[in-house]
Amino acid sequence: MKAKVYLMLGTNIGSRQANLQIATAQLAKLIGEIKERSAIYETGPWGVMDQPDFLNQAILIETELSPEKLLDALQGIEYEMGMRKKRKWGERLIDLDILFYNDQIIDNERLQIPHLLMTERRFVLTPLNDIAPDFVHPVFKKSIRQLLNSCQDPLKVMILQTDAV
Ligand code: AMP
Repeated sequence: MKAKVYLMLGTNIGSRQANLQIATAQLAKLIGEIKERSAIYETGPWGVMDQPDFLNQAILIETELSPEKLLDALQGIEYEMGMRKKRKWGERLIDLDILFYNDQIIDNERLQIPHLLMTERRFVLTPLNDIAPDFVHPVFKKSIRQLLNSCQDPLKVMILQTDAV
């Protein structure tokens, strides 16, 4: 059976909307059918402040890949698109994170699902709330809507466009 996976896309260098389009086309080709897409949000950088704003988008994709193979595929796309990883939380051509894989909890050296910092990041919860407000976080046992309502992150998250690309 196919897994339902929520992914977060982020980009803050170059033609950011084009980066999202190229990445989603690659995801559909290599990983599985994209079932839902959030709006695109412009968000202030988290962690390292002296860098350009990000565009973020959440998607729901169905895949037959295992979590590990999925991570391999995502890293392949990041690499192909020329991820420039200069510093932790620094500039990214494209960053692809696994937020949820069904309601599995995975915690090993290479992979933590649900993504560990997602509940502290408004730039994750706001797009995710567009497509999965009632999805219950398998660790915290709260819906995305509840997690967003109680999120303390003060950083800017502005809707860029309401139509899916
Ligand atoms: P990042 O700096 O966000 O690109 O982190 C990349 C690293 O995070 C990789 O080495 C992955 O092995 C690790 N990682 C752990 N959990 C996840 C996850 N849920 N999604 C994506 N990468 C993850």
